[in-house]
Amino acid sequence: MPDAAQDAELLTAAAVALNKHAPVLRELGSLFDAAGHELYLVGGSVRDALLGRLSPDLDFTTDARPEQVQEMVSRWADAVWETGIRFGTVGVGKGDYRLEITTFRADAYDQVSRHPEVRFGERLEDDLVRRDFTVNAMAVRVTAAGPGDFLDPLGGLASLAARVLDTPAAPQVSFGDDPLRMLRAARFVSQLRFAVAPRVYEAIEEMAPQLERISAERVAAELDKMLLGDEPVAGIDLLVETGMGEVVLPEVGGMRMAIDEHHQHKDVYQHSLTVLRQAIALEDDGPDLVLRWAALLHDIGKPATRRHEANGGVSFHHHEVVGAKMVRKRLRALKYSKQMVDDISQLVFLHLRFHGYGEGKWTDSAVRRYVTDAGPLLPRLHKLVRADCTTRNKRRAARLQASYDRLEERIAELAAQEDLARVRPDLDGNQIMELLGIPAGPQVGEAWRHLKELRLERGPMTNEEATAELLSWWRSRGNQ
Ligand code: ATP
Ligand code: MG
Repeated sequence: MPDAAQDAELLTAAAVALNKHAPVLRELGSLFDAAGHELYLVGGSVRDALLGRLSPDLDFTTDARPEQVQEMVSRWADAVWETGIRFGTVGVGKGDYRLEITTFRADAYDQVSRHPEVRFGERLEDDLVRRDFTVNAMAVRVTAAGPGDFLDPLGGLASLAARVLDTPAAPQVSFGDDPLRMLRAARFVSQLRFAVAPRVYEAIEEMAPQLERISAERVAAELDKMLLGDEPVAGIDLLVETGMGEVVLPEVGGMRMAIDEHHQHKDVYQHSLTVLRQAIALEDDGPDLVLRWAALLHDIGKPATRRHEANGGVSFHHHEVVGAKMVRKRLRALKYSKQMVDDISQLVFLHLRFHGYGEGKWTDSAVRRYVTDAGPLLPRLHKLVRADCTTRNKRRAARLQASYDRLEERIAELAAQEDLARVRPDLDGNQIMELLGIPAGPQVGEAWRHLKELRLERGPMTNEEATAELLSWWRSRGNQ
């Protein structure tokens, strides 16, 4: 298709997408018209409209100052957020919409710390040129008549048609001003399935170490968006190949090991990417961040545990234990919530257990422990373990999946007989204290754990059995 025809087609698609939001745009446009201010839809909103994937989160830019914006929208909005006001952003809730209205920016970068000093600008063009990528630097004028002129001084439409991420100015300058933009490139590679321009790639390779200057929270937010995108493997590959991974997630690139035909072990890095792809294919309720993180990181303990055995083979003993610890350390450094850290590292810790049992040789006790240790993570563990089978040998793959089918059947059978979700001792702390005649303290915990072990081993007990077991344990420790 000739360029002009393609552009026209994209713009028509965008106009259709924007028209769905015409009522809210007209109302907001008339408020700005009346006050004599300019208003533009901008950034991700224009990009997404062109790609036909516009959400009700809309980004705007204006010449009006934040206080003026607040005043204009105060009677119209359902809610106004001021958390971003320091950076010139007023958040507005209106029905299902979340609107972010930001005053034109014209930042100057302090060349020592490179922290942006927020300065407001007077012209749209100055605002657009300081954005991260040209595809994010297009604008649509909004007035009382609704969405109007399309403004693209930096060639964003051509980049979008070519599905390329390029910076408005020289990438070295742009990334020097805000190194996070490099990581945003990897995020958009995943989200939009775009490629980076060659000059952007080169600049990232050169400047990746500058990501050190970015706070863990900002890094993690982009990593999550990357992982949740449509093509996280492409984003991760860009990260690892350019050296960004070395700074933000060194363990992932660390899984690239020489492929050694004699020892038949696959490149662990490529294997992990395949597992991630396969885990995504098993998702049944939208993108699952915990599952995706666990799939990416499940083997990060392998390089550190690799041993060449006397028989010529290679082993990775306890790589799941080492891996779970490494996951904790990395995700904590990235300031993830305790819940995220616990969940992802527990999945990594458990991902191998299925293979520890011969095919079908699961005792009731082993099934109970598996379910209890996974807790609410069990559905994700099922997906992770199934995804972790990347052998090209079709018979072997089918055998593994069938074996996992049997494990799931065993879980279902046992769950029909006892409440597997709540495997706990048959006596509680109070009963333990009463039976042993001891006050609250560490001994009660020990007794409780002993009973829990028995409970996992044997299944439900009657109250008399549990009492007898408790007393005999107590005596075996030299008590009366
Ligand atoms: P999404 O909201 O779908 O995650 P987005 O493109 O809207 O994607 P935001 O982080 O919401 O991304 O940012 C909104 C817009 O602000 C971007 O489209 C871009 O124009 C600009 N922007 C955001 N972060 C930066 C940055 N670090 N440097 C330069 N411009 C940025
Ligand atoms: Mg946005």
